[in-house]
Amino acid sequence: MTLHQNLIAGEWVGGDGVANINPSNTNDVVGEYARASADDARAAIAAAKAAFPAWSRSGILERHAILRKAADEILARKDELGKLLSREEGKTLAEGIGETVRASQIFDFFAGECLRLVGEVLPSARPNIGVEITREPVGVVGIITPWNFPIAIPAWKIAPALCYGNTIVFKPAELVPGSSWAIVDILHRAGLPKGVLNLVMGKGSVVGQAMLDSPDVHAITFTGSTGTGKRVAMASVEHNRKYQLEMGGKNPFVVLDDADLSVAVEAAVNSAFFSTGQRCTASSRIIVTEGIHDRFVAAMGERIQGLVVDDALKAGTQIGPVVDESQLNQDTDYIAIGTQEGAKLAFGGALLTRDTPGFYLQPALFTEATNQMRISREEIFGPVAAVIRVKDYEEALTVANDTPFGLSSGIATTSLKHATHFKRNAEAGMVMVNLPTAGVDFHVPFGGRKGSSHGSREQGRYAAEFYTTVKTAYTLA
Ligand code: NDP
Repeated sequence: MTLHQNLIAGEWVGGDGVANINPSNTNDVVGEYARASADDARAAIAAAKAAFPAWSRSGILERHAILRKAADEILARKDELGKLLSREEGKTLAEGIGETVRASQIFDFFAGECLRLVGEVLPSARPNIGVEITREPVGVVGIITPWNFPIAIPAWKIAPALCYGNTIVFKPAELVPGSSWAIVDILHRAGLPKGVLNLVMGKGSVVGQAMLDSPDVHAITFTGSTGTGKRVAMASVEHNRKYQLEMGGKNPFVVLDDADLSVAVEAAVNSAFFSTGQRCTASSRIIVTEGIHDRFVAAMGERIQGLVVDDALKAGTQIGPVVDESQLNQDTDYIAIGTQEGAKLAFGGALLTRDTPGFYLQPALFTEATNQMRISREEIFGPVAAVIRVKDYEEALTVANDTPFGLSSGIATTSLKHATHFKRNAEAGMVMVNLPTAGVDFHVPFGGRKGSSHGSREQGRYAAEFYTTVKTAYTLA
């Protein structure tokens, strides 16, 4: 089997291979991917540092052309790359192709942004002096990504980093190196100069840690768990570097008595279970007012029992497998914890057997949960959700905001008054009305508050805030 190597200073370099396993069928090896060492990471950082002066001054047409080419190739290969993604991560083929198209759109967007770099010219407070405000690249950017969006998250970090003239050391999650390798290969062939984009696949504790420890990494953008995020933060403070964290969520979805029942159920099922619940924007706390509670739970149960859980690549599959054994154990542990805490496992939660050996779990819905239970406070990151019964809108809002996280927050209601009040008062970076808590656009800001995020927003024009540093220049006329 071909070994997919790391890219350091424009050269593909070897290392021991690690098998990339398909969670729908553990007999299926997606490919062999080289595992970088800490020395490889340091070589990649040195290469990115050496490439920075020239790339930071490269012409906008050169950057535009490379990002554009990448967008075009990703789109042209969407079926093949979408299949690779579904094979390595376990989300359905439709979701895998959709995410691949999203990556193409992101490269396309930032190809355009290269041509729209702007600054400001202002008069000084003093006479005969002009002031220019410009944005410059930050330097070497470290990119560390999680396994749940193997192509979209790398795309939304790599594209703006290149667009604004930074060089990159990129460490994807070890579980899903395939999609990352593919986009690095595409960008390399699209004409990126040596050292501008370096790929170091491998263990977070080795490769990621070497990035955190290096004074030559000037900014780190990280998406993943809260625990690792804190390590990134502490190491970054030590080096006085810029950092951006997107971490967990415990996103609420409120259903009010006046909601359209079918809209509420579709949004809740999507929020809780699609992509196997493995989205930071997934909702695992469904907060329902008492007038609609029983009808809502009954309709959810019907919908859940009809969901097709199977091999991600099979036609008709709606929910793929859990990503690996350790995540599956975490999900089933939380199902046990919820039951011990006194919540009622109303639907699902059983391990499933399919034609191929994989990590199949029936989506699980608890009822009679409280917001104090661990299943309501800790991120599970699987297809496990809990319904919390509340009296009215006011209590629903209080419960929705009673969480250490603040990424996304949703409501199902036909009341303009409640929708408007919720949009203003939900303590979250993103608010959804009559829509799932997950499912965001690529051209507008993405991110949260409280324990979910740190630093400026990702995506859209707001990405410039992280990938550039502002310079204020004064000139005597
Ligand atoms: P982890 O934090 O375990 O991993 C994220 C990345 O950090 C991986 O590439 C990992 O490497 C790396 N890493 C691990 N240890 C270190 C270290 N010491 N130094 C540097 N890097 C390190 O999270 P998961 O990938 O397991 O993703 C699941 C979690 O991520 C969930 O909690 C979820 O909520 C959150 N998440 C948040 C999102 C958001 O936008 N808010 C989006 C997606 C996920 P390795 O490959 O070795 O694991």
